[in-house]
Amino acid sequence: MTPEEFDIRRHFSILYEKIYSKPLVYLDNGATTQKPNCVLDKMRYIYEHLNSNVHRGVHYLSNQCTDLMEEARRVVARHLNAREDAEIIFTRGTTESINLLAFSFGETFCKEGDEIVVTEMEHHSNIVPWQMLCQRKGMTLRVLPILDNGDLDLAQLDTLLNERTKILCVTHVSNVLGTVNPVKDIVAKAHAKNIPVLVDGAQSVPHMAVDVQDIDCDFLAFSGHKVYAPTGIGVLYGKREYLDKMVPYHGGGEMIEKVSFSGTTYNVIPFKFEAGTPNYVGVIALAEALKFVDQIGFQYIEAHEQVLIQYTLGQLQKLVNVTIIGNPQKRSGAISFMIDNAHPYDVGMILDKSGVAVRTGHHCAQPLMERLGIPGTVRASFGIYNDKLDIDQFVKAVRVAANMLSK
Ligand code: PMP
Repeated sequence: MTPEEFDIRRHFSILYEKIYSKPLVYLDNGATTQKPNCVLDKMRYIYEHLNSNVHRGVHYLSNQCTDLMEEARRVVARHLNAREDAEIIFTRGTTESINLLAFSFGETFCKEGDEIVVTEMEHHSNIVPWQMLCQRKGMTLRVLPILDNGDLDLAQLDTLLNERTKILCVTHVSNVLGTVNPVKDIVAKAHAKNIPVLVDGAQSVPHMAVDVQDIDCDFLAFSGHKVYAPTGIGVLYGKREYLDKMVPYHGGGEMIEKVSFSGTTYNVIPFKFEAGTPNYVGVIALAEALKFVDQIGFQYIEAHEQVLIQYTLGQLQKLVNVTIIGNPQKRSGAISFMIDNAHPYDVGMILDKSGVAVRTGHHCAQPLMERLGIPGTVRASFGIYNDKLDIDQFVKAVRVAANMLSK
């Protein structure tokens, strides 16, 4: 079946909602995506027919759920092209994945005087956990700046990375500017100095084929809810050579080998990092979502979204009062803009009244806003179901906002 015959929109009931009697134009996919019916059906099916806690049961339902969860781990591993299923750790989302890493990696490999490198365009969730680690250990956080167009200033990477650097943390795609960072080259540069790299894949996994062996990153985090899966499920991919050595993050059931008051030993990966009852329904639904996007194929998804992005950029550039924030060499997922001096929130309110959902504000990237010297932006972010009609309704609403708000 071709993607056109597949008729993507038909799989998302919510897209047929009316907002203030107008068709919903959902351009807030960077915040969260809508869920296809197959994902919703799967969750309902599990609760109706199979629900039972995983891993601990001897009974039929528990074994069924356990098998489905471990099969889902295989789907995720295959999707990211991980070497083995055990390198896939299930978390609540990108934020928890990075907190897990900052704690477990930090406790295992870092000491006073060491350094962590992040970039100026990171989401707070790839800054604050590392700041917390630096505070705990007496370490220093160093920052790779951006250029004025919104690309990373990679010329500075060499001088930033030194013998004290313990890990480099970089987003694959900026959630504000849409910049696609050349993570494969960045990883190669860091590895030349024996420095491991975490890639924040929150905004890349929904838009492109992400191959962790090709990138050769040591860790990658992403959130299910941004890739058409439910909330509360996410992934930390990590190379076994690191995960095996890292101390656990949370203690509790499932992550142990043997517990005694004289001392406890830990389970093997990935279970060492999955204390307590996991979100097994979320895990199984995540696999369903990944199978859904793989069925469409990233070749099509990337091409489709690029056409929409270029079309939107072209339309917005025709509006004299609109300034697009950032002009990266390679863009995916999002376009940020401002209307003259109008507050982004006011623009968002006017768009909302036209049925258009966008996000406004600092997008959890306050250091980036500080660098750009702006309080926030209006962000349109794209998904597989958006089409040219959406963009036309969106641009029309932006024109109305520009007429009302620009001075
Ligand atoms: N990193 C990036 C680049 C993001 O865009 C987001 C979500 N906006 C996150 C991390 C955090 O994701 P979550 O809230 O799902 O944990």
